[in-house]
Amino acid sequence: MANDTNRFQAIISHCKEYGFIFPSSEIYDGLSAVYDYGQYGSELKKNIRDYWWKSMTQLHENIVGIDAAIFMHPTTWKASGHVDNFSDPMIDNRDSNKRYRVDHLIEGFADELEKAGKKAEADALLARMDQLLAANDFDGLKQLIEENKISCAISGTVNWTDIRQFNLMFSTQLGSVAEDADTIYLRPETAQGIFVNFLNVQKTGRMKIPFGIAQIGKAFRNEIVARQFVFRMREFEQMEMQFFVRPGTQKQWYEFWKEERMKWHLSLGISAGQYRFHDHVKLAHYADAACDIEYNFPIGFKEVEGIHSRTDFDLSQHQKFSGKKLQYFDNDLNELGKPYGNYVPYVVETSIGLDRTVLMVISEAYCEEDLSTPDKADSRVVLKLPPMLAPIKLAVFPLTKKDGLPEIARSVMEECKPHFRCFYEEKDAIGKRYRRMDAIGTPFCITIDHQTLQDNTVTLRHRDSMQQERIAIHTIKSIVDKLIS
Ligand code: ATP
Repeated sequence: MANDTNRFQAIISHCKEYGFIFPSSEIYDGLSAVYDYGQYGSELKKNIRDYWWKSMTQLHENIVGIDAAIFMHPTTWKASGHVDNFSDPMIDNRDSNKRYRVDHLIEGFADELEKAGKKAEADALLARMDQLLAANDFDGLKQLIEENKISCAISGTVNWTDIRQFNLMFSTQLGSVAEDADTIYLRPETAQGIFVNFLNVQKTGRMKIPFGIAQIGKAFRNEIVARQFVFRMREFEQMEMQFFVRPGTQKQWYEFWKEERMKWHLSLGISAGQYRFHDHVKLAHYADAACDIEYNFPIGFKEVEGIHSRTDFDLSQHQKFSGKKLQYFDNDLNELGKPYGNYVPYVVETSIGLDRTVLMVISEAYCEEDLSTPDKADSRVVLKLPPMLAPIKLAVFPLTKKDGLPEIARSVMEECKPHFRCFYEEKDAIGKRYRRMDAIGTPFCITIDHQTLQDNTVTLRHRDSMQQERIAIHTIKSIVDKLIS
């Protein structure tokens, strides 16, 4: 690959060509920053989701899972601070009174530059805009609009107001009669569904602090910079866990979860050099420690997961806005003779984007290999996915469509498919079939050939090494089972 931008583009094309990720409603030219997962992408995503769920709940006896609704009482978002603070910049034209999102206005101008054959200028403008947005530099953004004489499409003038904030939450109406309908929001994070259920879970599950509640679900943000494939989407999935602890112990649990989550990342078979921690220097007012786990995407080191020590902010806010006590009676503290038994727990959260994890896993796995020999030019694209995450675990191929080989292959399918995801194919030359499986990351292929008729052995081909070995037909299931677990 010539450079990382090309690599990123190649990955995006590969995802589309091989049924992993498609632009949403593509026949209508797509919907900006919204994507659909295809037949292999949805399997990969599910495998990652299941792996996280199992690691967090099944393997931690003091963490349980929930599945809260996307719609929540609107006051939830007042209490959490999202109504007042979850926003992006926008600008008005004084002559037309038309309001623009700053990124849309500048992007529109960049499109015109590109159409006029000034692609380099357009790219430079967008890169500068992204920098200023990331730095929340509104004066700089306004200056950029003025310097480029970006005008309003209606009035044609450059008479702009100052830049103000724009809330990132999507809203809709609940109720059928317009006048009585309440404005409600599509949740911008899954965490609040956990906070409002804190007491329900603690009491019904008889949970003792420290304990955690995990959740996986959709979140929605009307993102302002949305040109990075599934890295930044307007509808995405989060995997979050809120860990409730005694006040005063949060630093120790924060360190614990930093280490624990990094171990999880490394267990995906990705090397330590591909990750780094980014400790936040500027903390949100409610946090007393925060960091991101960043992965070295083809677009650079970027956040894939956040770990935050959020103090008692969220539960205290919900206590205040709901008028309901959200406290924990700590028997153990009483027994220790400590002065208080009732308190609002502190929270350490781990929050990872599922779609970003899919992109991370694909970016890591994507390889273009040159297989040329002195006589023949050859190459392949292979996704070296960890076998446990691969959409298809085993492909079963009869070498030809005759001589009873398909029947034997079918019986292998029948034996294996209840245990792991298998794929049957009898069309095309065997080499072509192997390459198609390489491209979707299938770790193992079985070929039934004429020797099988004589000695009941088959060829097992390994994706990464392309090595082939003969194994007895009755051992296929147990061998593959072992290799994928
Ligand atoms: P960023 O700084 O990249 O916007 P964030 O700090 O706003 O992310 P959090 O609110 O901490 O993100 O959300 C937790 C995780 O959810 C992120 O680490 C990321 O993996 C994922 N995430 C957040 N926003 C998006 C999005 N628009 N598209 C895809 N994943 C997202």
